[in-house]
Amino acid sequence: MKDYYEVVVVGGGIIGHAVSYQLNKNNVTTLVVEKQQSGRKATKAAAGMLGVHTENSNANEFYKLCQSSRDMYQELNWELYELTSIDIQLASGGMVELAFHEQEKQAIELKRQAFPNLEWVDQRQLKAWYPMLGKEAIAGIYMETDGHVEPSRVCEAFKQGAIAKGGKVKEDCHVWNINHVGKTFHLDTDEGLITAERVVIATGAESGRWFTAMGLVNPMIPVKGECLSIISSGIQLKQTLFCKDFYLVPKRDGRYVIGATSERYNQSSYVSVGGIESLLTHFNTIFPSFRDARIDSFLTGVRPGTEDGIPVIGEHPYLPGLYYATGHYRNGVLLAPATAQLIGDLIMNQSQKAIGTLVSPQRLAMVNS
Ligand SMILES: Cc1cc2nc3c(=O)[nH]c(=O)nc-3n(C[C@H](O)[C@H](O)[C@H](O)COP(=O)(O)OP(=O)(O)OC[C@H]3O[C@@H](n4cnc5c(N)ncnc54)[C@H](O)[C@@H]3O)c2cc1C
Repeated sequence: MKDYYEVVVVGGGIIGHAVSYQLNKNNVTTLVVEKQQSGRKATKAAAGMLGVHTENSNANEFYKLCQSSRDMYQELNWELYELTSIDIQLASGGMVELAFHEQEKQAIELKRQAFPNLEWVDQRQLKAWYPMLGKEAIAGIYMETDGHVEPSRVCEAFKQGAIAKGGKVKEDCHVWNINHVGKTFHLDTDEGLITAERVVIATGAESGRWFTAMGLVNPMIPVKGECLSIISSGIQLKQTLFCKDFYLVPKRDGRYVIGATSERYNQSSYVSVGGIESLLTHFNTIFPSFRDARIDSFLTGVRPGTEDGIPVIGEHPYLPGLYYATGHYRNGVLLAPATAQLIGDLIMNQSQKAIGTLVSPQRLAMVNS
C-alpha cells in the first residue's frame, strides 16, 4: 500500500467512514486509519434513532442540520444497498414521546408548540395504541418523520461503499502523532509514516488530544452509555417509544433496544450491573408485559460529547488542510450524512458554506492566538 494520500481520515467509526464515502463518491481518494476494527466503539453501541424531535426543543440551526441529515438517509438507503448489498435497516415507523406526569405533559406541550407538525396524542388514543403499558400515559406526541437505522450496518455500508469507489482502509493501525510539515501532514502510525495533503480527525470520544495537540481548546466530554437489546415475539410495536428515563426502539430484525444510561467522563468499556439494573427498573415499571422477553445483548460505548453540546465540523482555524468531524454526542448516527456532506463540500469546494459558524472549529481558537 502506498504511503501518500490525498486525504487521510483518522478513525473508522460511522463518522469517519461516512466522510470517506462522500469523498470517494466524488473522486477524492481517501485512506481511513482505524486503530482497532471499524465501527466497534460508540457506533456499535448506538440505538440508531434519527431523533430529530427528541433531540431538539426548538427549530433552530442545529434542528435544521438534524432534519436535513435525517432526510439524506432516504436516498442513502437505496444508494448504499445498490453499491454494497447492505441493508441499513432504515425504519420510518415514527417515534412517540410519552408523558406520565403533569410536568412531562407540559414539556411535550411546549415541544408541540415549537413544532406544529407533530401530532398530539391524547390519553384515550394512547390506551388504544399501547394496551400493554403498565402505567397510564397521560399524553404523547407523535413524530411521524423520525425513524431509525442500524448503526453498525450503516458504518459497514459507508466503508464498503467507499472501497467500491476506490477508498482504502487500514485497520488495527493506531495513529500516534500528526505533524504539519510544509504543505503536508505526516502521520506516525503503527505501520510507519503516512503522508497526506489533508487529514480529517474522526476519532469520536478520543478526539480531545487532537485539539490540544493542534493548539485549540479541547471541547470534548466523553459520556459513557449502556443499553441492552431484548427479543419478544409476543409484542409488536411499530413506533419507537421515548420516555423520560429510557427509550424502546423496535428494530426491523425483531429486537427491541432499550437505552440508555449516561455518565459524563466515564470512559470504561464494560457493561455495568448498576447501569443495566437502572434501565430495567424503569423499563419494567412501564412495560411489565415484557418480563418474559429474552435478553439478546448488552452494549456500551462512549459518546463524543462537547462542552456546548454542538459537534465540531470543519477546518482548523489556522492549520489549512486539517479538518475535524467529531463531537456528535448522542447524534452521530443521525448526523453522519450531513457531517460527510459538510466536510466533503469543504474539501472539494474549499469554502465554508452551508451552516457557517454553528459547528465550526473556529469557536475553539485560543483567545490569544
Ligand atoms: C448507548 C448509546 C446510544 C446511542 N444512541 C444513538 C442514537 O440512537 N442515535 C444517534 O444518532 N446516536 C446515538 N449514539 C451516539 C453515537 O453512537 C455517536 O455519536 C457516534 O457513534 C459517533 O461516531 P464516531 O465515528 O465519531 O465515533 P466512534 O464510533 O467512537 O468511532 C471513532 C473511531 O476512532 C478510532 N480511533 C480513536 N483514536 C484513534 C487513533 N489515534 N488512531 C486510529 N483510530 C482511532 C476508534 O477506535 C473508533 O473506532 C449513541 C451512543 C451510545 C453510547
